[in-house]
Amino acid sequence: PNKRLEQQTCIITGSSGGIGAAVAKALGTEGANIVVNYRSSKEAAEEVAHWINTHQSCGEAIVLKCDVSKEEDVKALFKQTISHFGTVDVCVANAGLQIDHPLHEMPLEAWKKVLDVNLTGQFLCAKEAINEFLRRGLREEVSSSLGKIIHMSSVHEEIPWAGHANYAASKGGLLMLMESICQAYAPHKIRCNSIAPGAIKTDINKDVWSTEQGKKDMLKLIPYKRIGVPEDIGSVASWLASDESEYINGTTIFVDGGMTCYPGFTTNG
Ligand code: NAD
Repeated sequence: PNKRLEQQTCIITGSSGGIGAAVAKALGTEGANIVVNYRSSKEAAEEVAHWINTHQSCGEAIVLKCDVSKEEDVKALFKQTISHFGTVDVCVANAGLQIDHPLHEMPLEAWKKVLDVNLTGQFLCAKEAINEFLRRGLREEVSSSLGKIIHMSSVHEEIPWAGHANYAASKGGLLMLMESICQAYAPHKIRCNSIAPGAIKTDINKDVWSTEQGKKDMLKLIPYKRIGVPEDIGSVASWLASDESEYINGTTIFVDGGMTCYPGFTTNG
């Protein structure tokens, strides 16, 4: 296999399951060392690391606990990673959650929690990653870039989402965070991009896709007529982290089966 991330170290936040786990495995398969980060599911994180450690072409995986919304936790996550692997080359800021309420009933706590994890958490991770990239300097034999940051955004950085304003606001905020990082640090050869998944089968939306009606409603939003799987995101992430996508910077890649083409507007067939 062609190993595009050999000798590189990748932190994937929230990678004990769902999209993060698929990204961890995909990057691991490219030969990278992987930090499987979890907040509470240690056993599930260990399973992901075990998968990577027992697959031949993969790098080494370790498991680290961290709540991405806490600055001291994020600092420790990077410190432990650097002391184990020497540096960090790729940060996939993936951890995220939904706490849904109609806006007029949304408790302030639900607003704050979603912003703290989805937006502030990604800021804290990007900040630590950039500091490490700048400290370490370019290793041309490993990658043409100084380092890569991938934010896990959502189609809801573009599509408004009634009943989920905290989530949509956090993802909309990520768009400007990502673009501002690119503008500031591209001259240092840092690449910062987002992936915007559409509807991907994970725990975050299980209550929808696990019922027949929910699945039908979801498919109405997807021109390609297939609900996504975490591996759809893993394959894009490993390419985006590699030098094959070197000239891509400051952009969002939508991986959504066409959801952002608003299929509700289809008139003739
Ligand atoms: P998921 O619930 O399976 O995974 C989210 C992970 O983030 C979990 O492992 C959770 O433990 C972790 N997490 C939550 N809070 C954390 C914290 N404070 N610190 C560390 N980890 C924390 O859901 P998923 O679908 O795999 O979501 C991954 C990312 O993809 C999220 O950012 C989500 O917004 C985004 N996304 C998902 C979809 C989808 O359809 N599944 C669509 C668009 C965007």
